[in-house]
Amino acid sequence: GSSGDVPASARKLEGKVALITGGASGIGECTARLFVRHGARVVVVDIQDELGARLCAELGEGSASYVRCDVTSEEDVAAAVDHAVARFGKLDVMFNNAGIGGAGCHRILESTKADFERVLAVNLVGPFLGTKHAARVMVPARGGCIIGTASLASAVAGAASHGYTCAKRALVGLTENAAAELGRHGIRVNCVSPAAAATPLAMGYVGLEGEAFEAAVEAVANLKGVGLRVEDIAAAVLFLASDDARYISGHNLLIDGGFSVV
Ligand code: NAD
Repeated sequence: GSSGDVPASARKLEGKVALITGGASGIGECTARLFVRHGARVVVVDIQDELGARLCAELGEGSASYVRCDVTSEEDVAAAVDHAVARFGKLDVMFNNAGIGGAGCHRILESTKADFERVLAVNLVGPFLGTKHAARVMVPARGGCIIGTASLASAVAGAASHGYTCAKRALVGLTENAAAELGRHGIRVNCVSPAAAATPLAMGYVGLEGEAFEAAVEAVANLKGVGLRVEDIAAAVLFLASDDARYISGHNLLIDGGFSVV
């Protein structure tokens, strides 16, 4: 299968089943590929059906399954979780990763209530629904792992739109609360907070692509000459999902090259 290049002894998620929201693009796509290489079977959910279906076809039918799911719909999220269990037998890892930039609510005077609420719906209500329905199947299974994609905006003001910052900060609260509640059931809950990496979301947000994007990000970076790649974020998610992180819960893992502490 697709895990051929990672030797069996080095695979971090052998036999595990993961669901990845926003899995058709960017961080989610990269994580889906890495999880499969590490022995997991993945359910990729997104609203970009062509991209999601193509990715899963490439990863192989035995390893990946695409389901359309708008994370703002409880019906969709519940059905996606049920699909993971029906198709692959269980759910070990829930990655609440789908998000939007919320460029419409960057300046407070130009922000509309609708823009603000839309960002909260995708970036906060989505992870709430994902956490709820993952817990629905993980509690009876006596274990599991839930990971969210927050953002550097969870720690630093002015890095993003108002709606985005509010949603990502609240996601840290959701992560901590869920970790506190679900720990007794053997469920770990964490999130990652990346700085800017070149994805459609980030490039659309800053309005730059390619080298211009990289240069703008490098100009404000603390760790110079390195550059954040989606692979770095996927690697952190893999760590949190794996048994290497078996005693880590309620944590917001910053992947920002030290930006937020300088
Ligand atoms: P991306 O645009 O490549 O991927 C996001 C995916 O989410 C897309 O495939 C999109 O179709 C999907 N999506 C959007 N709305 C959805 C919905 N309602 N239901 C289901 N799927 C939906 O961007 P990305 O950068 O990979 O974003 C992934 C996550 O990472 C987001 O939560 C984002 O806020 C966060 N993040 C990104 C960066 C960065 O620099 N790229 C930094 C910090 C945090």
